[in-house]
Amino acid sequence: MLNFTVGPVQSNDEVLQIGAQQVPYFRTPEFSATMLQNEKLMLDFCNAPQGSRAVFITSSGSASMEAAVINLLNQNDKALVVNGGTFGQRFVDLCKIHNVAFDEIKLSAGQALTKEILSQYNAKNYTAFLINHHETSTGVLYDLDLVSQFCKQNDLLLVLDAISSFLAEDVDLAKYGVDAMITGSQKALACPPGISIMVLGKRAIERVNTNPTKCMYLDLKSALSNGERGQTPFTPAVGTLLQINERLRQIEKAGGAQAEIERTKQLALYFREQIKDLPFKMFSQSPSNAVTSLEALDNDAYDLFIKLKDEFGIWICPNGGALKDRVFRVGHIGNLCKDDYDVLVDALKKAKGV
Ligand SMILES: *Cc1c(COP(=O)(O)O)cnc(C)c1O
Repeated sequence: MLNFTVGPVQSNDEVLQIGAQQVPYFRTPEFSATMLQNEKLMLDFCNAPQGSRAVFITSSGSASMEAAVINLLNQNDKALVVNGGTFGQRFVDLCKIHNVAFDEIKLSAGQALTKEILSQYNAKNYTAFLINHHETSTGVLYDLDLVSQFCKQNDLLLVLDAISSFLAEDVDLAKYGVDAMITGSQKALACPPGISIMVLGKRAIERVNTNPTKCMYLDLKSALSNGERGQTPFTPAVGTLLQINERLRQIEKAGGAQAEIERTKQLALYFREQIKDLPFKMFSQSPSNAVTSLEALDNDAYDLFIKLKDEFGIWICPNGGALKDRVFRVGHIGNLCKDDYDVLVDALKKAKGV
């Protein structure tokens, strides 16, 4: 199987080998040391300012999105939410469920966020800004520089879902003034699903500590205090955390987050170059390094997904809903190399009979 979906993605051999071991008991100094190292490397890789913390929650990424809404916001907030697809809609749904007042900036599928759009929301008494750095459902990467300036100007708490952009795009928290960053184990971290990670800056930590506790499992006060000694409030996905440790140390050894981002970018560029003559069109106005989102001009996107899976053992990522036949996505995160894209492009050519 060759997997070009956007998560779970392919893990490398060292990470896979850890998955084959017995899972150790975790209330030990050894596991605590591993967790403290995980926290340190996470903070390093997103250039978190002094005083920031990282917490590891046993859940998929969406639980950290929910934890952000529950722990960082309250009845006095008014959030501005960017909704350009499935994952933007998730923040909208979370605000509704947890009674956080909000307005949404609704973008059409594939549409970029521009300065003109944002400027309509200046000086409107918002307190927080919720955005998916990369709207994975359509492959649109939002301009973090633009978002950052808007949030600084309006003094907004910036919550960044970087679930699919961490390690694929620059998410320099200090530079962009991000208050909370979210990612997950099964995207560019290229580990099995099961762990989501939140990096919280000082302002976010203050909010966690002053807001009332509304949920036991997703209580970040307790995650933060347990994390001080390298522990978690409840039994975590111990095996996945050990795999994350292996992967973070590998990335550090290979030159850090910037090297990994560059590697991913080169794969994306290579793939886009190879498919120039095929009947596909770039779907996103502002593509990310993590994913190439393609419009199938023959309206056979879903058929291609099935054909590649059944006839070639290759997984590309289908789209749902209205985009099912029009759009498919090819990921560039996970343990992939140029040769893998040669295999994919060859299969796409055969499938299209060209
Ligand atoms: C994958 C993803 C999520 C959701 O992650 P789950 O792990 O499926 O809960 C949220 N936001 C973005 C941008 C994603 O790419």
